[in-house]
Amino acid sequence: MKRFLVVLALLTPLSLFIFFRLFPDADRRATHSLFHFYIVSFASFSAGVVSILLSRRLLAMAQRRHTLAAVAFATIGLLFVSHGAATPNAIIGHSHPAVSWSAWLTMLVGGALFGLASLDRPDRQLASLSTRAITYGTAAFVGLYLAVAFLAPQLLDAIAQQAAPWHQRLIFWLTLLLWLVAAWRLWRIWQITRSEVDGSLALVASWLALGTISLHLFPVWHLSWWLYHFVLLLSFLVTAYYLVKAYEQARQFRLLDYYVAISLIFTSLLALVASALFAQISYNLLVSQLRIDFGSTIESQIENLAGRPNTPAGIRREVALGLVGLRVGNVLVFDEEGEIVYPDREEYGLTLDPKFGLMVAEAFHGEMVVEVLSSEETPADYAAGSNSYLIVVFVPIISGQERVGVAGVLRQSSELAQAVLQARLLGLALSGVVMLLLFLVLVLVVRRADAIIVRRSDELRQANQDLHHSEQMRQELTDMIVHDLRNPLAAINASLDMMGRVDESRPGVKERLVAIGRSAGQRMNSMIDDVLAVGKLEAGELPLKIEPVDLNKWLDEQLQTFMPQIESEKKTLQVDCPTSTFHFDSHLIGRVVDNLLNNALKYTISGEGLIAIRLTLNQDRLYFHVQDNGEGIPDQFKGQIFRKYVQVPDSSDGPRRKGTGLGLTFCQMVVQAHGGDIYVQDGPAGGSEFVFWLPKR
Ligand code: ADP
Repeated sequence: MKRFLVVLALLTPLSLFIFFRLFPDADRRATHSLFHFYIVSFASFSAGVVSILLSRRLLAMAQRRHTLAAVAFATIGLLFVSHGAATPNAIIGHSHPAVSWSAWLTMLVGGALFGLASLDRPDRQLASLSTRAITYGTAAFVGLYLAVAFLAPQLLDAIAQQAAPWHQRLIFWLTLLLWLVAAWRLWRIWQITRSEVDGSLALVASWLALGTISLHLFPVWHLSWWLYHFVLLLSFLVTAYYLVKAYEQARQFRLLDYYVAISLIFTSLLALVASALFAQISYNLLVSQLRIDFGSTIESQIENLAGRPNTPAGIRREVALGLVGLRVGNVLVFDEEGEIVYPDREEYGLTLDPKFGLMVAEAFHGEMVVEVLSSEETPADYAAGSNSYLIVVFVPIISGQERVGVAGVLRQSSELAQAVLQARLLGLALSGVVMLLLFLVLVLVVRRADAIIVRRSDELRQANQDLHHSEQMRQELTDMIVHDLRNPLAAINASLDMMGRVDESRPGVKERLVAIGRSAGQRMNSMIDDVLAVGKLEAGELPLKIEPVDLNKWLDEQLQTFMPQIESEKKTLQVDCPTSTFHFDSHLIGRVVDNLLNNALKYTISGEGLIAIRLTLNQDRLYFHVQDNGEGIPDQFKGQIFRKYVQVPDSSDGPRRKGTGLGLTFCQMVVQAHGGDIYVQDGPAGGSEFVFWLPKR
């Protein structure tokens, strides 16, 4: 279906051209200069604005060929505005070189930019293709051209006069070649990328190759010539649609851009409408004034001249001579049959245009007819120039009660044309300025709103990131705590195990095992409390509950949970602790000791394991040493094991023991939250020695 549409989109204009070539009579002339002025100026201006905004955004983010396509349409838009604005007799009274210059330049420069865009292949990029340099270079060129076109158009005329016909042919072939090559290369690119934007660019380039033919090979103001205007507009719409569709998702388009685009387009539309209304009102006023002044002058003259007694032929002659004497325009006199009696038909070879024939008949049977015909409405034989109106007055000649003929005065008026043109220009300038001021005021408001939106979305993005971060941290901490819950669970299991095997006759053993199990259970309980307190932890503030701790008592309780495991694994635990009190969070530091002790048990062999816990106190620090004679930690891992999930691998690259690699991370976090530090070194009896210290408070 899509393929069919594309083929149709290409074949329709092509077949139209072939048709017009074969049947030039069907290629009707359509001189609608005002329509051309309004539509072309408005459409090009809008396309230019949208494309400039698009290029600005795409420069920072898009594929180079896509940015260049937007730049091409910005250039096409701007150049073509001057083509529209210079339409003869719209706001400029004479024919201006910018009409044709802008048209061929639009196609040539557009083709060159599309050609450059097609060099940006996805598989073989041209490093030297700097989009920015091309954009600024083109902008400078357009600025220079527009300045010359409107400040020194004679320069363009002079160049055009020097140009030989082959120059024009060369420009045509060059432009056509650029579009065709671009279309071919973009189509090849589309075959690789299959991206909608690339596909649409290939289609657009083919259209504009056809547009080039329409511009250069077909007669001005004919249907075939209008075709390239249509193709240009369509190409812009298709390109802009696919570019916006592709890059809008990146959320790079801002409120301000939308506002600027829409309001500038509406501003220009309103300015053009206002100018059209202004021109029309001025025209109507002038024409009605003319009707009154000119028409009634002629009417009263004729009344005077026809009032004298005479034969009908004599009256007609009197009227003719009288009007000629007034020197107000060309005089025509008709008899009651509607035949010209003055001036002599034979002598002047006059033929009466049917348009006038109707007016004459109307005047003969009714009242005075006054018409103002624009140069386009004026019959060719009577037209004085492209920038002139024809005022036509037909008055019945009445002698007594009898109608004896019609007298007509045809007057060329270039002043009226000039006045209407000025009214249009003035209307455009006035409304343009008013709209622009309104636009500027509103742009300030929207800029502010836009800045607020951007700031708010940045804040939201940041808040979201923070939330994500704390969620991650919460998850990690939960993992750590779950990991830590295993230690007391192991103690409970071991006590239950031993209770099953205990000698009933030995007094107190059972009670001790129950006490150990209970204390381990309590510890689990407090850990679960900790899990619930994670919400506070994740805010980056460990809720440290610093309290004076009786070291001996605290350590004794801490170690109780491990005793069954130590006993069952036949390991030795040595403890050396000063009789002193120190300030720290007994709960969290207890879990640090748990972790270290648990690791020491994990990494020592049953029956041989020797673990020593030593606390030393100096003036301002309390040191904890947890030594073991296990397998030790290779030097390259000593710094790393405190990082999350790091475990020392065994020879087969798997972790040595089952674990999460989070225990030491937790220890480090807690110790550092106390303002202390933790590290590991080789133990004196082989194995490893974990040391951490806490500052005095
Ligand atoms: P886990 O024990 O869950 O793997 P840890 O963070 O407690 O996580 O320990 C990280 C790694 O450090 C362990 O996997 C182990 O390789 C190594 N390690 C820790 N303590 C000792 C120790 N006492 N002896 C030998 N290796 C140790």
